[in-house]
Amino acid sequence: EQVAIPDNFASSFESTTGQTVIPGEKFQFQTEVSRLMNIVINSLYKTPEIFLRELISNGSDALDKIRFQSLTDSSAMESNPNLNVTIAVNKKARVITITDTGIGMTKEDLQKNLGTIAKSGTSEFIETMSGDKADMDLIGKFGVGFYSVFLVADKVRVTSKNNNDDQYIWESTAVDDFTIAKDPSGNTLGRGTQIAIHLKEDQDQYLQDARIKELVGKYSEFINFPIYLRSEKT
Ligand code: ADP
Ligand code: MG
Repeated sequence: EQVAIPDNFASSFESTTGQTVIPGEKFQFQTEVSRLMNIVINSLYKTPEIFLRELISNGSDALDKIRFQSLTDSSAMESNPNLNVTIAVNKKARVITITDTGIGMTKEDLQKNLGTIAKSGTSEFIETMSGDKADMDLIGKFGVGFYSVFLVADKVRVTSKNNNDDQYIWESTAVDDFTIAKDPSGNTLGRGTQIAIHLKEDQDQYLQDARIKELVGKYSEFINFPIYLRSEKT
């Protein structure tokens, strides 16, 4: 089974000098979101590996959503009949991608869900975690979510295609702002979301197939969709 993974993501990450390669519209992270990101990064630096569990779980949620939608709208699935998550690694570019064929995000979804609308309970969570009684159990209950990607990434690119919009690219280095641009490559995903993670200097372990397999086994054994690991041609 083949999943379209655009080849250009890696090369553009490679050529980057910290500047956004694809010029996009700029958005500020909501203050609460920035604070949440800082708490996640400062509390979980000892277990950065949980980023993979969070991203696979988001992929699985997105797959559930499109499957649910297709129960009442059979045409919803036509944009991509496969339901899966594919993980691929590009060692040279030091990029790992996690691609799902789930419901995908419109431009508005990207803007709101990944930066400007903090999920409910965030302010209470921030308050507790920044007080004296910082509670590590609470972080598990709250669900650290997408922003845990910045435990391992210095730059993240989210490419997404929802049935109701064109394909868009969200990019961020987690510092202050993120950008959103219409994908100049058009619709390469059919439907779904691809998270391309450019790894921090000291996070090379996630380029090893064995390490990825170990983590998928450890955290994602109850995911109801196939998870493929696409090995690099050597
Ligand atoms: P949670 O999963 O608890 O809602 P996250 O921080 O993990 O919180 O994700 C925030 C939101 O971003 C999700 O609720 C969803 O709307 C959106 N999102 C994240 N990843 C994906 C994805 N792979 N496909 C579609 N939507 C996603
Ligand atoms: Mg989540």
